Amino acid sequence: MTTHATTPATTFATAGAIITIDLGAVAGNWRTLRSRLASGAECAAVVKADAYGLGAARIAPALAKAGCRTFFVVTLDEGLDLAPHLPGCAVYVLAPPLAGNESVIADANVIPVLNTLGDVALWSAFARDAGRPLPAALHADTGMRRLGLTPSEISTLAHEPERLAGIDVKLLLSHLACADEPHHPLNARQLAQFIAAKSRLATAGVAPPASLANSSGIFLGTEYHFDMARPGAALYGIAPVPDEPNPMAQAVRVQAKILQVRDVDAAETVGYGATHRFARPGRIATVAAGYADGYPRSLGNAGTCCIGGHRVAVVGRVSMDLTTIDVTGLSEDLVRPGTLVDLIGPDNPLDDVADAAGTIGYELLTRLGRRAHRVWREGGAP
Ligand SMILES: *Cc1c(COP(=O)(O)O)cnc(C)c1O
Repeated sequence: MTTHATTPATTFATAGAIITIDLGAVAGNWRTLRSRLASGAECAAVVKADAYGLGAARIAPALAKAGCRTFFVVTLDEGLDLAPHLPGCAVYVLAPPLAGNESVIADANVIPVLNTLGDVALWSAFARDAGRPLPAALHADTGMRRLGLTPSEISTLAHEPERLAGIDVKLLLSHLACADEPHHPLNARQLAQFIAAKSRLATAGVAPPASLANSSGIFLGTEYHFDMARPGAALYGIAPVPDEPNPMAQAVRVQAKILQVRDVDAAETVGYGATHRFARPGRIATVAAGYADGYPRSLGNAGTCCIGGHRVAVVGRVSMDLTTIDVTGLSEDLVRPGTLVDLIGPDNPLDDVADAAGTIGYELLTRLGRRAHRVWREGGAP
């Protein structure tokens, strides 16, 4: 089965670019990650930022169908949007603005992650007023230094556990800063800090399940797995261990239609700024996608696309709506208006394109534009 986006209204026939998202590959990646976990550890899914740009309302239910029961988003709005799609599942909100939103959170099927002693105080007071225990996760900062309770704040909670009165602590989590660099010394330091935070709280009788690993953290070893892993990127096909073969299946394909094909003479230039000059006569195809579609401008004179198994170079600047590629020597049957060009596809995977653009797969995915026609496939290769 295949479903189509309704906003913006697009069709395959009328759109310039097509984004195909393989829900079967995402579910398969979740199973692959789960199979790597220490026995008994749960595999959750991070679906923040609209499932890294791929459509949380489609991705999350597909993962729930595969057996995933715990989901993470970042903003409260994301949680409120997603929770109704996930009956029976836990939806954690990693960075909710708590003050003033307590009743919104309590009434929705979402669980706040408490990042400060102030969050703890607000949630505990609200639970007391509500007259019932309310679920929450505690985030211990072990070295990222963005969000979370510092080691001394964890100690405060351990010494004054009454601060947690009314809070049903469902999870203790922390986040790794360098998990994609297996030899970085911060990994072991964060692991030790996390174990320390966990045992400090346990002495006060607060001993919830624990979660440390993101996608890359899963590959650091079973000592990083605890009770739950929280992969995001690897679900969507991003390599969890850079410079090693990628065990994840590609989940997204981005194609754009050729609009025009033209011959160029030697010494002619192409595009804004006339940045590419042809050394000899050749042929250019103009493709219906540009940086407004999330195809990075930095790929001008640097990226490659694929047409029917042939690798071709991006020539000239990538403009807002159009990209020009050098199709010199390719058959006219193949290269003509309407032909689909792979901007990201089986022969030019996401991570390679991101690398050529000077960024990472995470950014490339989350910037994919809204005007492409999106197709979500239930299974099989995109
Ligand atoms: C984004 C995020 C994750 C997922 O990280 P990936 O590298 O995409 O697997 C896990 N935990 C937290 C707190 C996050 O913000």
